[in-house]
Amino acid sequence: MNRVSTEYEDHTVLPPLPPDLPGDPDGPLDLRLRDAGTLGVGQTFDSGEGRIFPCDGCGADLEFRIGDQQLACPYCGHVKEIAIAPDARVEEQDFHVMLERLQQWRVEEARVQVESGDEEHAGDSTTRNELRCDSCGGNVEFIGTLTSTHCPYCGSPVQLEKAHKCQERRIPVDGVLPFQIEREHARKNLSQWVESRWFAPNDFRRTGVNGKFNGVYLSYYTFDSMTFSAYTGQRGEHYWVTVGTGKNRRREMRTRWYPASGRFQRFFDDVLVLANTGLNRKFMLALEPWPLLKVVPFNQQMLAGYLARTYDVDLDAGFTEAKGRIDSALYHEVCQRIGGDVQRVHNVDTRYEAITFKHLLLPVWLLAYPYRDRTYQIFINAATGEVQGERPYSVWKILFAVLMGALAVGAIAAASQQ
Ligand SMILES: [Zn+2]
Ligand SMILES: [Zn+2]
Repeated sequence: MNRVSTEYEDHTVLPPLPPDLPGDPDGPLDLRLRDAGTLGVGQTFDSGEGRIFPCDGCGADLEFRIGDQQLACPYCGHVKEIAIAPDARVEEQDFHVMLERLQQWRVEEARVQVESGDEEHAGDSTTRNELRCDSCGGNVEFIGTLTSTHCPYCGSPVQLEKAHKCQERRIPVDGVLPFQIEREHARKNLSQWVESRWFAPNDFRRTGVNGKFNGVYLSYYTFDSMTFSAYTGQRGEHYWVTVGTGKNRRREMRTRWYPASGRFQRFFDDVLVLANTGLNRKFMLALEPWPLLKVVPFNQQMLAGYLARTYDVDLDAGFTEAKGRIDSALYHEVCQRIGGDVQRVHNVDTRYEAITFKHLLLPVWLLAYPYRDRTYQIFINAATGEVQGERPYSVWKILFAVLMGALAVGAIAAASQQ
């Protein structure tokens, strides 16, 4: 089959399987996964050297090591420097050009399906392997050896044999923020977090949170846009008048309204939007800010040993969410520009121009832990160490606190009446 796109096609050849390795059927090394590499989360890489990274010393899969930001062999200790081309840059992509390209891909894929009449295209160079969790629907891609046998989102066991082929061509990844926080560091932050939770049950505080951390790269979009806004509204200025006579004489505040309107332009840089669903968005937002200055050009070597989640939010839906963030910032600016003591905003008309985006992978330590009869999720920003997540509450401790509060209020009331 002859595909027109060259830029996103991947002609890399998988390296041969390494020699026999210490066999542990439940261990992290699973040879079945070796050919289930991330067929270009979108992009060709490594000038065709292969998408898993065998150790020069022993042939096992190298893993990205956070401490020195290098590839290292977990078996023999061999270290390989990650090579980033000196001219590699994290480039902004044109938003509308990409939307057109996606549309074109959809048309082509529909045609291919009709022509071939089946869903399996073995050997198709755009086919990628993905793993979907049956319990929660989380989708992951992986590279090299998958070190986890449990879903990073919900903690259920994942069936590695169920890696399925995915036909769809995807927006390439532009940049990666490599893991900065090591597993042990994350664990320490987590226990501090557990200890500092108010109203946590005692056994939860004592035993902490048990479970396996999973390092996951999540998909994000960042958008840039130049905006031109025209607004109309009213500026309110307060003044005081004296009303009433005799005993009723008093001052009252009034507001005089003046028409206000204007135009201004504002550039927005790196408005960040999570491109994965099924994660608690409140916690994900609370993981911000991300040190985006540390983002490096996409390089699959950094993904070695980690899961990378493919985006489930389409690019245009992502921009709609970014627009929400931009619009609320513009609204604040309109209020400032109108000035006065209070403002009424009748209308803000905004044109978005020169929209560009980047598709980024940002690192998160995820932990799903069981407590009593349900599963809780914890998220750790693996670039800053920020911990967010669900935790159990002790009903008794809360009741006790409410009771003490009520007693204190009662005591104050009683004292003030004497
Ligand atoms: Zn080795
Ligand atoms: Zn799951």
